[in-house]
Amino acid sequence: MDFIPCIREYFLKNNIDFKLNANMKEYTTFKIGGNIDILVFPKTILEIKNIISYCLKNKIDHIFLGRGSNILVDDNGIRGVGILFSHNFSETIIEGNKIKTYCGMPLSKLCITAYENSLSGLEFAWGIPGSVGGAIYMNAGAYGKEIKDIIIEAEYMDEKGDIYKIHKNDMELGYRTSIFMKKPYCILSMTIDLYKKNPVTIKQDMDDIISKRLEKQPTNYPSAGSVFKRPNGSYAGFLISECGLKGYSIGDAQVSEKHAGFIINKGNATCGDVVSLMEYIQDKVFKKTNYYLEYEIKKI
Ligand SMILES: Cc1cc2nc3c(=O)[nH]c(=O)nc-3n(C[C@H](O)[C@H](O)[C@H](O)COP(=O)(O)OP(=O)(O)OC[C@H]3O[C@@H](n4cnc5c(N)ncnc54)[C@H](O)[C@@H]3O)c2cc1C
Repeated sequence: MDFIPCIREYFLKNNIDFKLNANMKEYTTFKIGGNIDILVFPKTILEIKNIISYCLKNKIDHIFLGRGSNILVDDNGIRGVGILFSHNFSETIIEGNKIKTYCGMPLSKLCITAYENSLSGLEFAWGIPGSVGGAIYMNAGAYGKEIKDIIIEAEYMDEKGDIYKIHKNDMELGYRTSIFMKKPYCILSMTIDLYKKNPVTIKQDMDDIISKRLEKQPTNYPSAGSVFKRPNGSYAGFLISECGLKGYSIGDAQVSEKHAGFIINKGNATCGDVVSLMEYIQDKVFKKTNYYLEYEIKKI
């Protein structure tokens, strides 16, 4: 942590917004995790470039963060710098059926923008509590649709600070995966292609989707959504339920009674509780069904 006085001075000198020792409980939907050394809130692309370059030059680890809805942060926190986009980077440009927007844009706000412009195709994302950056990274999806179906291209910054466009065919988008999981790139923007539809029908479809979510998901407790990926040929929630694990708890981490694919934080769950519970579930499910459940959430 010797780097903190210098980086603090650098950020102050360059008018870059930051917070020292930020509590990651406040920046994740799971409400779990210790403190991060420095959380930084870039306002411009140039600031992102300068922050990354400073970190690399000074050998300081850095990580990109959106709305923290798919991550589990260690109880000891994160050493280094978290570059958080969800406070900025939400401009939107609409041209015909296409919307270009930036990495910090909440999916919920983007869904409303599409609806208000009579543009359909994004309804599936209504209720996913992530940002555009996290959604591309994960190739977020629901109800049979995913980001892959609507994205045309994205822009990213590499470690040298150069900006590139990448076509969807080169993004290696698959079930909860993308090229960005293999490369240290910062996703900056995405352009999606939608189609015109009567806004009344769009609204009805969005209402149906949110009703399904409210009915099936434990939205009244902190969580990070589905903790495991869907294994080939089955569903994680179904397998976990079949093993009699609904409601099973370790500490304050509990397999949701409502949706066994979710782990909820009943109040003061720790990262340790969640990891122990995930390992317990993996073991039970494998022994009983021969399915190995892979983590969907990212442990940081
Ligand atoms: C109640 C609930 C329901 C959910 N339902 C769904 C669902 O139906 N479908 C679904 O797919 N997901 C779902 N999720 C999970 C989550 O919302 C999505 O995966 C979302 O896309 C994550 O976005 P985020 O901004 O929160 O990403 P974060 O959690 O902040 O980050 C996720 C990963 O993306 C990386 N990342 C974020 N921004 C960038 C960037 N700009 N450049 C490079 N890397 C970046 C991070 O480093 C991290 O590895 C749900 C979560 C909750 C809590």
